[in-house]
Amino acid sequence: MKDVFCMIIAGEIPSAKVYEDDEVLAFLDISQATKGHTLVVPKEHYENFLECPKELMNKVMDVAQRIGNAQKKALGASGVNILTNVGESAGQTVKHFHVHVMPRFNDYKDGLEIIMKEQDDAKKDLAGLAQKISSEIK
Ligand SMILES: [Zn+2]
Repeated sequence: MKDVFCMIIAGEIPSAKVYEDDEVLAFLDISQATKGHTLVVPKEHYENFLECPKELMNKVMDVAQRIGNAQKKALGASGVNILTNVGESAGQTVKHFHVHVMPRFNDYKDGLEIIMKEQDDAKKDLAGLAQKISSEIK
């Protein structure tokens, strides 16, 4: 069964399009966690950021950057959050690679909260942790 983004790309579900070319589509997220909240997706189906081929991923990120700049200009946003989730534990709900581009405003209370709390137990061996990740970089 097709996921909802493949259906939007195929035109089977309507969307408020922000940008489109041969390989990339951007449209407003139906949830609008912030005003102007946009999703950027490759038209070809890949499950997530980590599985998307590099060249296509670069095109998606290029469009995300251009949309972030456009949101600042068009909506007067003072900041932008760029977010992509990989896997259910990271909050990915639609299994089609997508990048959230979410404009932020100084004087507007939106529905986006990002909290990063220090985790003391995870901080105990930073050198060992860095080495472990480093050794698997391809
Ligand atoms: Zn898909």
